[in-house]
Amino acid sequence: MAIIGTGTDNINTLRLWEAEAVNDFNFLEFNNCQYDAAVKDKNSAENISKVLYPNDNSHEGKVLRLKQQYFFSSASLQDILKRYKQRHGTEFKWFADETVIQLNDTHPTISIPELVRLLTKEGCDFDWALGMARAAFAYTNHTVMQEALEKWDINLMKSIIPEVYEIIVKINDRLVNELKSKGYDQPIGKVKKGETPKTKMDNMVIIDGQRVHMARMATYCSSYVNGVAAIHTQILKDDTLKEWYELYPERFQNKTNGVTQRRWLALCNPELSEFITDLIGKKWIRNLDDLKRLESKITDENVDKFNGIKYQKKKELSEFIQKHDGVWIDPDFMFDIQVKRLHEYKRQLMNAFSIMAIYFRLKEGKLPNFTPTAFIFGAKAAPGYARAKAIIKYINEIANLINNDPEVNNKMKVVFVSNYNVSYAEKIIPAADIHEQISTAGTEASGTSNMKFMINGAVTIGTWDGANIEIAEHAGIDNEYIFGARVEEINEIKDTYDPKKIYESNAELKRVIDTLVDGRFSDGGKTGEGSFKELHDSLLEGASWHQADHYFILRDLPEYIETKIRVNNDYKDRRAFARKCLMNTANSGQFSSDRTILQYATELWRVK
Ligand SMILES: *Cc1c(COP(=O)(O)O)cnc(C)c1O
Repeated sequence: MAIIGTGTDNINTLRLWEAEAVNDFNFLEFNNCQYDAAVKDKNSAENISKVLYPNDNSHEGKVLRLKQQYFFSSASLQDILKRYKQRHGTEFKWFADETVIQLNDTHPTISIPELVRLLTKEGCDFDWALGMARAAFAYTNHTVMQEALEKWDINLMKSIIPEVYEIIVKINDRLVNELKSKGYDQPIGKVKKGETPKTKMDNMVIIDGQRVHMARMATYCSSYVNGVAAIHTQILKDDTLKEWYELYPERFQNKTNGVTQRRWLALCNPELSEFITDLIGKKWIRNLDDLKRLESKITDENVDKFNGIKYQKKKELSEFIQKHDGVWIDPDFMFDIQVKRLHEYKRQLMNAFSIMAIYFRLKEGKLPNFTPTAFIFGAKAAPGYARAKAIIKYINEIANLINNDPEVNNKMKVVFVSNYNVSYAEKIIPAADIHEQISTAGTEASGTSNMKFMINGAVTIGTWDGANIEIAEHAGIDNEYIFGARVEEINEIKDTYDPKKIYESNAELKRVIDTLVDGRFSDGGKTGEGSFKELHDSLLEGASWHQADHYFILRDLPEYIETKIRVNNDYKDRRAFARKCLMNTANSGQFSSDRTILQYATELWRVK
């Protein structure tokens, strides 16, 4: 697929792979039994490139996922080697001078042993090939969630890619020798009687019991490791990969994420683009830092024009949501938007609770000056993630209650749009007054929709997490609404956190959280037994695999509600609010992916 830049000399090739069965079966020749087997073979081959991120709760799902990772990795490596050989034949000594393979998360990490395998097949010595791989690979970490750092069962690997597994064993042997020579096998802390002493090495071995730890392999076998926002890189150094940082401090770098202004401003918001270009010219399309010149143009006249454009985008979105999802939202409402994958750490549930708190306050006449607000959600849940689906269901139940309650529905509306994707994002983001990125501090590596919203002139209500921090630093902290515990506090309270105590001592929170189980909403199960009860338990009782409220919703919820009320109040001064919005746009230059990619090219890839 051609990736077209500007000018005819600026076209790159994106290679896409499709899996097919090796044999082009002539189905007519088979008897019934053979026919079924052949169809099964054909489907199983084609499935490899059919579904992205299949449900991997089941064994079959895991097998498919590993086959996918191996298939795409090997296809790309074989292509890279084929083109290298066209230049140099089988003399591979220049390979790492001419090639960088950037591992975008752990998903393609199987490429490391696969490259070693392919090079040794070409006649290279094992250790030489491993050295070449370590020079060619670099690893971008995208998450600190333990469950998202992939670990593959060794028996699964042995059964699907046995040759590759053998190479992983040899790589692990090299690592273990290296760590032992550095004393990493010595006991750390007090050795308790009768227990095997802990060593630093325990947190570093690639083959860890029955599992292959992909992030460790990526870190060991790369020349660089990077995080995707300043705080995230710091957490990698201090926590997630701390033993590795101690061993190889020079490998760690930060590359704060970015988004492209060609899609996320020029294409999706032509009205705001024209307004900007009228004021400062069109240089921003290639150099987003140029938006800084908007700052001196934030006059009352321009602020009013900006509000006119925002209204236009909100009207367009309202009409689209009406058509697509059957809910009418008045474009005169304030638009408060949270769109992103559904995950507990992103805390859509906390947003839902805050809406219920506002609902109760409105019903009781406690918010006489409330600016009418539309709370808009968009998200997909991973197919096997039951709790995420329960949260979607809960928000839809809230929407149903509020939108049909004539006592409040002229003051608030709630909508969960269906099939949220990039095309929907292009309509939603330009229409936001407020954007929500409210992850528990320390959990969201960066976030990128925060950047898309910033460019389009929305203020962020958010936690001190991911790229929110850098956004607030660039736009000015008074132009965002920051609340909640910071990482240091979360680390401090972690071991003694008692959400039940907060729940018992705060009647408003208790009432809101209990809407999960008080019988007003339907979760398909009998009241008190269904998926909402499971959510309620996850907050107050915990589960076998986590402590109660492991994303600290009850800690942050009171501050969050007050912050939302404060934003709602500030919005009444439409000019003052629009100034904040324009300060966001004017200072979003740092968050262009042009800046990010230039940093990768010069600081990691040695591109001149
Ligand atoms: C940008 C984008 C994301 C990423 O959102 P985050 O808030 O950064 O997690 C997810 N889905 C779509 C469709 C997007 O456009």
